[in-house]
Amino acid sequence: MNDSVTALILKQTDYREADAILTVLTAEYGKLSFIAGGVRKMASKNAGSVLPFTEAQFQYDHKQGRTMFRLKTARTVQLFRKLHEDLDLSAAAGMVCEIADLFCMQEEAESSEEQYSLTRQALTLLNEGKDPCTVLFLYASDMMGLFGIAADVDECVRCFSTTVSAVSAAEGGFLCADCASLLNVPPSTPARLRRFRLAVKGGLRQIRYTEEAGGMRLEDLEILMEMIRLHTGMQIRSFSFFKRILSIE
Ligand SMILES: [Zn+2]
Repeated sequence: MNDSVTALILKQTDYREADAILTVLTAEYGKLSFIAGGVRKMASKNAGSVLPFTEAQFQYDHKQGRTMFRLKTARTVQLFRKLHEDLDLSAAAGMVCEIADLFCMQEEAESSEEQYSLTRQALTLLNEGKDPCTVLFLYASDMMGLFGIAADVDECVRCFSTTVSAVSAAEGGFLCADCASLLNVPPSTPARLRRFRLAVKGGLRQIRYTEEAGGMRLEDLEILMEMIRLHTGMQIRSFSFFKRILSIE
């Protein structure tokens, strides 16, 4: 048997002396793991095709019901070159891969194809030079939506008033002035609320609308990462590295 799957490599972990365990995302099976033998040796033919932020075609033997396989050969489909060369972009791509790893399940899910397509699009847009904060915000927001924890940007999440004046990570969305002052949440500018709403509604596919509204800022991304932490219990560790890289500039 020789099966083939196209995969986005999310993570490479050292294993034994020269092997690696790869965490990858596929459209067909969701998240899978592969043992890649010898890829940490200089002479390995597969080494260049199993780096994180790379799309590759894997040859392996598929067995129903399993989520870990032994990799036979890998061939690069899309390298996303800039993500490997530029430190800012590497940091942003690292966040995309960590978010994908967090939200994607290790089994065939209805949303696997959509998750794959969004993750691939996020890496493509970063590689094309789109603003990292904007891409990361839209990507994270779309993935939260697929996971069922989208930010509520239609009305005050507490009293359903449609006149909103703040955004709260803990409440998972917008608040009206009364609820915000009751909860000690500082007010946001109308421009910020507007771009927040456009971004959550339009997502990565409609990145143009968010760009026209001025793009997303680090402070916006901060709120979204806090929402993920509070509503899934998981911390996006690569976000602090991303922030440190941004602060150097
Ligand atoms: Zn309210």
